[in-house]
Amino acid sequence: MSHAAKRRRPGSAPGDTVLRRPPSPNLSLSTIPLSTPSRCLQVSMTRRLLPMPGHLPPRVPTPPPPAPVLQSRRARVDEVPDQDDPENMDRYVQPFVDPVTGRIGDAGRPLRREQTAFDRLRDEMKRSGTSKYCPFADDEEWELAEWLTRRVNQTGTDEFLKLKSTRRQNHSFHNNRAFLKKVDALPTGPDWTCHVLTITGDKLDEDGQRMKEEVELWIRDPVECIREIIGNPAFKEHTAYAPERVYSCNPASEDDRILDESWTADEWHRLQERLARLGKHDACVSPVILATDKTKLTDFGGDKAAYPGYLGIANTGKEIRRQPSTHATLLCAYLPAAKLSCFSSDDAQSLATYRLFHACMSILLEPLIAAGTDGVEMVCADGWVRRVFPILCAYVADHPEQCLVAVCKQNRCPRCLVQHWERGENLSAPPLRSKDETLRILRDHKERKSVPEFKDQGLNAVYQPFWANLPPHRHLHLLLPRPSPPAP
Ligand SMILES: [Zn+2]
Repeated sequence: MSHAAKRRRPGSAPGDTVLRRPPSPNLSLSTIPLSTPSRCLQVSMTRRLLPMPGHLPPRVPTPPPPAPVLQSRRARVDEVPDQDDPENMDRYVQPFVDPVTGRIGDAGRPLRREQTAFDRLRDEMKRSGTSKYCPFADDEEWELAEWLTRRVNQTGTDEFLKLKSTRRQNHSFHNNRAFLKKVDALPTGPDWTCHVLTITGDKLDEDGQRMKEEVELWIRDPVECIREIIGNPAFKEHTAYAPERVYSCNPASEDDRILDESWTADEWHRLQERLARLGKHDACVSPVILATDKTKLTDFGGDKAAYPGYLGIANTGKEIRRQPSTHATLLCAYLPAAKLSCFSSDDAQSLATYRLFHACMSILLEPLIAAGTDGVEMVCADGWVRRVFPILCAYVADHPEQCLVAVCKQNRCPRCLVQHWERGENLSAPPLRSKDETLRILRDHKERKSVPEFKDQGLNAVYQPFWANLPPHRHLHLLLPRPSPPAP
């Protein structure tokens, strides 16, 4: 496989079929800074592929912001047909009140009007008289292209397009190469970049040098992924920009608080309050949900294997988010699944795997540190610009990967400090793992101080966990939404 073809691959990966996306132009605003590699991993990195610098969206003079819409995105009282369905309970919505100004409507306040990327692209096509099926000739060719990308592999596509009966149709592409060129000409989401990481093992080669292994990390800027999701007009009716408390108006209900969407939960309120106390009253919190799945291993050419990382934001409603076809969750990374045979023992290999994962996630999430602290202006689905603060709030993974995130051993609970022999016992509220405490223990262990807690909490010697510098969670367990399964 040529290098160019290799570059294409992650862009047209499963879950991100190019043809199913609503067209949107390249939104990349700048190149991603090269992160500092994890020192303990002895990693060196080179940039192999830089994203093409894009253009800032044109600034349109705007009217003053309107009174914010304080409407729940779920059914209102007068729309409710079925009183028994908890989804349709009579709802009383209490908007967020800024704890400093005492005002309603500060949170997620619109700054000015601007076109969404989708609208800009549509206008551009109208102006230039381009067909909406461009670069394909018409709807029939679009349909064929969609079928080919979803159902047929590259060899099959090539053979199909070379059949005499297909050639008679006079399509604008006659082989797989020409077809892929057309697909590449479609508007895409955020660019992919590749980082090459070199891991130095403890085994020696014939020359007495320590053996090395090179792995590739393919990523997209998470801030650009969030910009793409929050600005997708298809989600306009399903996107929230501020928290709210929702209560049931049903008098029979004992507990009248309704918690059904992320923006109705206390955690979003806490994040909003924290930003308000820092003077960021108009902040639009964007709770980031990450997911990785090591079971979905993809083999690439040249003995390379990787597994996908996905990103979604809790601003989009759960109904939309859980449907892969809506693209409310984007493929944002291919994490290397390296064999790491340059290490001599299983323990060393396992530790190196932990460190490699955290080094990769640190590179991926580095843009979230500044964006989550200072905010980034984004055009939202409703055509209003807001100052968005992306904050990593949830990490969806199976038990081994949750332990990987929490840097604990797999026979431990990634959320709490229960001992491995106490698992399954009906303990009353064992203490939860805390971010600050975990970091302190790791720091002391690195400095070779005596820290009995290191063993007691079942930690691994990953001295730079990716969540160390991310704002602002105190508790690790908030990153891990699902309860841990019983021990194997
Ligand atoms: Zn636990």
